[in-house]
Amino acid sequence: MAKKVLASIKDLSVTYHTRIGPVSAVDHVSFDIYKGEILGLVGESGCGKSTLGKALLRMIDPPGEISSGEILFDGENIMDYDDKRLRDFRGRKASMIFQDPMTSLNPVQRIDDHLIEAIKVHEPQTNREAALTRSKTMIERLGIGINRLISYPHQLSGGMRQRVMTGIGLILNADLIVADEATTSLDVIVEAKLADQLREIRDEFGVSLLMITHNIALVAEMADRIAVMYAGHMIEIGDIYKVFENPKHPYTQGLLASVPNIRFDEQEQLYKMPGEPPNLTHPPKGCRFHPRCPHAMPICSEQEPNLIEVEKDWMVHCWLYQDHPTRES
Ligand code: SF4
Repeated sequence: MAKKVLASIKDLSVTYHTRIGPVSAVDHVSFDIYKGEILGLVGESGCGKSTLGKALLRMIDPPGEISSGEILFDGENIMDYDDKRLRDFRGRKASMIFQDPMTSLNPVQRIDDHLIEAIKVHEPQTNREAALTRSKTMIERLGIGINRLISYPHQLSGGMRQRVMTGIGLILNADLIVADEATTSLDVIVEAKLADQLREIRDEFGVSLLMITHNIALVAEMADRIAVMYAGHMIEIGDIYKVFENPKHPYTQGLLASVPNIRFDEQEQLYKMPGEPPNLTHPPKGCRFHPRCPHAMPICSEQEPNLIEVEKDWMVHCWLYQDHPTRES
């Protein structure tokens, strides 16, 4: 069955204007998010994955700006939205959960008030009693006892707070949840439980989940597809099984080879990626990975490759998979 596209990101760039010059944190990125999928977005710190997640909800604050591109959501370009439509979009269509939910939850507001407020901001005609009933249903679906509704955020565990944030996103039937390192601050057992619940939420609500994380093992367990970023570029995106089995981009190959136990082979030596990520105020010409790439060719330092389809629904940004003038025949 053909997958339906929920969001289409086209040629999206985000630039931060710093004192030492513009930093191109996300550089002409294009990809789709399908309805009901879990898409894992990975890459080293500073590669632009969190910036990309925020840009999808137009949450880039100065000195940053979305400097080019379109974000088509159900066919509408949210770059054209005014403030009112954007506020509505952020509640009804898409929401974001962060690593530390305490930064998003009001410490002096009870959990029921957070949920009721989320409903009433977007549906002012709903009375408090009806909003409370919906809040109870939601919190129970997320595996939290309704007695917790009268708790304050600091009285809940980290995992519970993340589920409350997820509930705030879902209570208005959002189609997309962007989870930015949402499980990172949790211990491994709570993290695994929250990951299971997020998957159940996807199955039950049909919501799409963009999971931004540095935890490759979590992506392997949860995601339908994986998207890999490097230095502001989307360098590989495809089906989770195919990419893990046979990563195409040299950076993805190094990233997966550097994760302990990813193939459950204790004899295997972990790969150490050579070099450092580039300074994005002066990124390398051509492919930004070329100073670290074991397969670099002359063309790689001269010209940037395109993101091309190497198989159906599998895109790679590398000269190894496309024709170029210096390729030997
Ligand atoms: Fe390596 Fe060249 Fe591919 Fe970049 S384009 S990843 S340098 S082979």
